[in-house]
Amino acid sequence: MILVYIEHKAGQVKKVSLEALNLARQMASSEGTSCKAFVVGNDSLSVELGNYGVDEILKLPSADHLSQDQMVEVCSQIMASNNVKYFILGLSTLARSIAGQISIKTQSAMISGITGFRYDAGKGIYRKSVFSGKAFADISSTTKSSVLTVTANCFSAEPVGSQKANETIVELSIPAAKIKIIETKLVQGKTPLTEAAVVVSAGRGMKDPSNWGMIEELADLLGATTACSRPVADVGWRPHHEHVGQTGIAIRPNVYIAIGISGAIQHLAGVNNSRKIIVINKDPEAPFFKAADYGVCGDLFEIIPKLNEALKRLKS
Ligand SMILES: Cc1cc2nc3c(=O)[nH]c(=O)nc-3n(C[C@H](O)[C@H](O)[C@H](O)COP(=O)(O)OP(=O)(O)OC[C@H]3O[C@@H](n4cnc5c(N)ncnc54)[C@H](O)[C@@H]3O)c2cc1C
Repeated sequence: MILVYIEHKAGQVKKVSLEALNLARQMASSEGTSCKAFVVGNDSLSVELGNYGVDEILKLPSADHLSQDQMVEVCSQIMASNNVKYFILGLSTLARSIAGQISIKTQSAMISGITGFRYDAGKGIYRKSVFSGKAFADISSTTKSSVLTVTANCFSAEPVGSQKANETIVELSIPAAKIKIIETKLVQGKTPLTEAAVVVSAGRGMKDPSNWGMIEELADLLGATTACSRPVADVGWRPHHEHVGQTGIAIRPNVYIAIGISGAIQHLAGVNNSRKIIVINKDPEAPFFKAADYGVCGDLFEIIPKLNEALKRLKS
């Protein structure tokens, strides 16, 4: 059986979980097996998950938010009690911290950050990027069970039908939490960088934090999330959660717009898996142009206001 862990909040399923369901459906049809969803909490997701091709939801009701160590325990139990061959999670912050632990606890193979799938000679082949996005590795597993995580924005999250999934309540023992969450701070109103389809990012070429208004305006016009290079976050021009790159967040949006960023290797390490890269830089020798699909060579202080005006005209 293939089981997908569904992350949700206030009745809303995370996009990356829906993308994980897409991979699960492809695997289930290749292997001729069933694909179910595992939900922890009290939200009713039968209609939404049914629309994404789920026949059955295994639901662990819980009024409390489970800590990561509790999640490792319940996910390991559900795998063992249902003879799960593949346990799949969308690659979120939670998945990053629990997937490896679940694989150890259940003695499963671990394939992290899957970006593609094909079925060849009777076995599933999972593609992931390696060496900071410079190469691909195609991996298959030979173990009895495997834990897989799916990179955001690599599989489509389109609904596939309009059925209602059956809900089966499961009973698992939830241990006392070893980790206590003291405070949760939510970034309001924007899609998290790891899930964003469009990212507008800016660097030291902006000269001063007071110039960021035009970047935020461009992001609002495009429905994008903002990001930045590391030096900009280091000096406090932008918050640290926006820093992308080798030492920051690795992202994979459909479109990454880099403004006034040179394209150092450490920056590229976090963004070069973007589907399309657009670079705006006044230096024709800026290394970022080599990684770009589209490049605009010129002064960002002239280009961005004109771009914003053009987008406003287009929208009106
Ligand atoms: C171990 C290590 C880890 C690192 N990790 C990261 C990381 O995770 N992420 C990261 O980003 N960096 C990282 N760095 C830093 C990295 O090496 C670069 O120093 C950094 O990415 C440069 O940031 P930048 O492009 O904003 O600034 P700069 O290199 O100063 O580039 C500014 C760019 O703006 C352009 N520009 C200037 N004015 C204008 C204008 N008016 N119009 C248009 N363009 C203009 C310039 O031509 C230039 O290309 C790391 C470094 C090390 C050593």
